[in-house]
Amino acid sequence: ETTAAPNFIRNLITDERAQGQTTKVVTRFPPEPNGYLHIGHAKSICLNFGLAEQFGGDCHLRFDDTNPAKEEQEYIDSIQEDVRWLGFQWAGEVRYASNYFDQLYQWALHLIREGKAYVCELTPEQMREYRGTLTEPGRPSPFRDRTPAENLAEFERMRAGEYPDGAKVLRAKIDMAAANINLRDPILYRIRHAHHHQTGDLWCIYPSYDFTHGQSDAIEGVTHSICTLEFEDHRPLYEWFLANLPVPHQPKQTEFARLNLNYTVTSKRKLKLLVDQGIVEGWDDPRMPTIAGLRRRGYTPAALRHFCDLIGVTRSNGVVDINMLYHSIRTDLEENAQRAMCVLNPIKVVITNMDADVATQIKAPVHPARPELGERVLPFSAELYIDAEDFMEDPPKKYFRLAPGQEVRLRNAYVIRCDQVIKDEQGHILELQCSLDKETLGKNPEGRKVKGVIHWVSAAHAVPAEVRLYDNLFTVEAPDADKEVDFLAHLNPDSLVSVQAYCEPSLAQAQPETHYQFERVGYFCADRHLCQEGRLVFNRTVGLKDSWAK
Ligand code: ATP
Ligand code: MG
Ligand code: MG
Repeated sequence: ETTAAPNFIRNLITDERAQGQTTKVVTRFPPEPNGYLHIGHAKSICLNFGLAEQFGGDCHLRFDDTNPAKEEQEYIDSIQEDVRWLGFQWAGEVRYASNYFDQLYQWALHLIREGKAYVCELTPEQMREYRGTLTEPGRPSPFRDRTPAENLAEFERMRAGEYPDGAKVLRAKIDMAAANINLRDPILYRIRHAHHHQTGDLWCIYPSYDFTHGQSDAIEGVTHSICTLEFEDHRPLYEWFLANLPVPHQPKQTEFARLNLNYTVTSKRKLKLLVDQGIVEGWDDPRMPTIAGLRRRGYTPAALRHFCDLIGVTRSNGVVDINMLYHSIRTDLEENAQRAMCVLNPIKVVITNMDADVATQIKAPVHPARPELGERVLPFSAELYIDAEDFMEDPPKKYFRLAPGQEVRLRNAYVIRCDQVIKDEQGHILELQCSLDKETLGKNPEGRKVKGVIHWVSAAHAVPAEVRLYDNLFTVEAPDADKEVDFLAHLNPDSLVSVQAYCEPSLAQAQPETHYQFERVGYFCADRHLCQEGRLVFNRTVGLKDSWAK
């Protein structure tokens, strides 16, 4: 129905292969283990793993773990789980940039010996000042002309732990007047006396992202190093290292536009803030745009992959409408989710003319368009619950649901008519007394049309459930657009509304992560962690109505 959008990198590789340039495609997905993956990462995962899959190549999972302070094992574990859950498998072992610390150190020595790197003692403020601006060239550091011998000795002392954090750095000696500021003697190594989750206390100097990334790609034989557009300006530096070091292979960097989605934020730092401040229940809170959150909300791998196909891969930055994400999951669940009835806001209906002719076990399809999925049994009895929203005492014209004197069909069951509204002294409705037409099970009523259909459950058989109605976490399209306003000011106070509902009894054994369409209500998923027999918890994944403007 909806087809994949263009993917310029796929086209590029197709062309390269047509010209015999690329033999085996090797890509990598390189997360920094400083948070959970989000929907933006899903785009990168689908792209990198998807290309390897399509061209019969390999995609590596490489943790970009050069910053020991912010990284944790929990993140390493969750990232692997998320990639696998999306349906991808990396080639070989999980890799870590920290696996290459020895080699990177050797390459730093190489640059020093060649007179292409030096130890600098400017403070961060001085370094900023010396660096110049977009319109003004930088000035050379007073340490720039140290001899290789001096630099080797100094760098060795940095490594040996003789200096405190921040005292000195190793910089590449490139060009302080370069138009591209990234080439104005960028930092290669910093001193950091911190424990690293992979290398322990072996190192107290850590390589920068720029000094690590391309060389890691080269070591791994990556052919296409795909990253987001912010790194376009780093490409000359990426290439400078590859040209100035004896690397075993020459990878190529290609940039694409990152995914931005409205009504949410996709920055690990901001997502971490939501978690740390207890605004959400954790990284996998169903309101979070994390892969773990989307999963818990009821997204499927197929829907996320479909979404990534739909958005395509280009070089122009834009904002994707979150309705497109909703559309992807809705399309999947419309086809695949089993149907069930669940009343969120119950009001009692009493059938006044029950007798032995009325069926007490009604069969309904698990999915109306998929008979192969079988049937479910709905107990029917004299006391039912319907949703309060499906009754109006004083309805407007063209109201086709239940009203005094008016008929409606109970979904999968009989036509009933409301004969009387019973209220307490305060005027609250206690029950609706209704009579049913016994001739209407699976048949149209004689001589009249009944347009409305409402859902229901048998009161005595219904199973209670906690139903969590989730909505967007933010009330505005671009919560973090205005740098002057804290994005937390735009939090949606109603992003979670929890209700006690009544479900048809077939849901009593709902297994975690089972997807349902609650008929007429929306798509729901049994909570991955909380749902169990005796305590049912369902999360609303998405409503029924599609408002994505194609
Ligand atoms: P954040 O800004 O949220 O911290 P990041 O880019 O620092 O994200 P990484 O862990 O470095 O996070 O990202 C791993 C890979 O995922 C990178 O190649 C990065 O380009 C890609 N990626 C991150 N965010 C997006 C996004 N919004 N759209 C597409 N790709 C993304
Ligand atoms: Mg990053
Ligand atoms: Mg980051």
